Amino acid sequence: MITPASRFKKKLPVPYTDSLPDEIKGNVGKWKDRKFHDHGIIEHISESGEHVFSVKVGATPNVRFSTDTLRKFSGIADQYGIHALRFTRSGNVELLANSLENSLKIKQAVEDLGYFVGGVGNTLWSIGSCTAYLTCTTAVVDSPSLTKVLYDNFKSYFTGEDPLPAKLRINVGGCPTSCGGLVADIVLIGHYGDAPSYDPEKIKMCLPAKADSLDKAVPELVMVCPVNAIKAYKKEDNSVGIDIIREKCIGCGRCKDVCDHITFDPHKAGLSILVGGKTSNTGFGPALARVLVPWIPVRTPEYREAVAVVSKLIDIWKSNGKPGERMSDYVHRIGLSELQKMLDIPVTRWNKPTSPPSGFGVRQFLTE
Ligand code: SF4
Ligand code: SF4
Repeated sequence: MITPASRFKKKLPVPYTDSLPDEIKGNVGKWKDRKFHDHGIIEHISESGEHVFSVKVGATPNVRFSTDTLRKFSGIADQYGIHALRFTRSGNVELLANSLENSLKIKQAVEDLGYFVGGVGNTLWSIGSCTAYLTCTTAVVDSPSLTKVLYDNFKSYFTGEDPLPAKLRINVGGCPTSCGGLVADIVLIGHYGDAPSYDPEKIKMCLPAKADSLDKAVPELVMVCPVNAIKAYKKEDNSVGIDIIREKCIGCGRCKDVCDHITFDPHKAGLSILVGGKTSNTGFGPALARVLVPWIPVRTPEYREAVAVVSKLIDIWKSNGKPGERMSDYVHRIGLSELQKMLDIPVTRWNKPTSPPSGFGVRQFLTE
């Protein structure tokens, strides 16, 4: 019979169990319960009778740490914990201990470093951020700096000083590829609010010289568009021309990465805000987030417009959500349309409550 413990005994390419502390290695497949403590601490209970505690620390956006900071965290984990820490899928760091007393010492030491502990129970659990400009060429918005601003503004929801009706997850993506993830109560996605412009003469530099080649290969500039909004055609003189179908374009900016003669109006770099996503089977079940606001401008460094919408959303949910009701379930209960009315958000063809979530990413972002 396959048991959770036996699954872990399968031969895996990386002998990862070698790097686990004894308290974890000895309990693989035996964890049977967990308990949330105040102060961002989770107690994990094994059928062996052992208890391990996780102290959850709000990480820097996109989980970027200097090696020096990691050494300091490791020092704290060695001094008060079980010589272990882990990075969570949602972008937090957890330091592991073997008692509540030691967990509280870890919490104090981490806070002394300037980090905060929380994300447990009815709090903001995480703000997941994609990498954007640091390692990615297609970013429209610098998601880590937006994530930092959101953490600064909503820290009291993470630490639990300001309790919420239920857990809250926020994801941030720098472009419609949405590496930050679309399954969260609130999702912010960077994109341009309009299709690109180009000079019909200069764009030839990014296209094949002769239209005969179109029969053999699709130009890179056409291939790069994720929604087929760029069409190449043969001109009378056998050169290649292109059309960009504005109604199809989602403002992702990928075309400018392969052609310097494609330009976007930088004032039209902005964000859409989506709501109502979650992975959990509770309430109305798992769901993709849907477009609440199709486009708002980004004004760095404060991102005031985005912060204002997120803040109002949380206030409405805090005042009207039932105890234990995720924001996602609250949105499903009252309907996107009602929420748009409460927030005074105009409904256009891009954020119609009847649009299926699967339509996300296609023609939903343009401002008109
Ligand atoms: S969401 Fe866009 S900007 Fe962010 S990492 Fe993915 S491709 Fe890059
Ligand atoms: S911005 Fe994106 S969707 Fe629009 S034309 Fe360029 S590649 Fe296509």
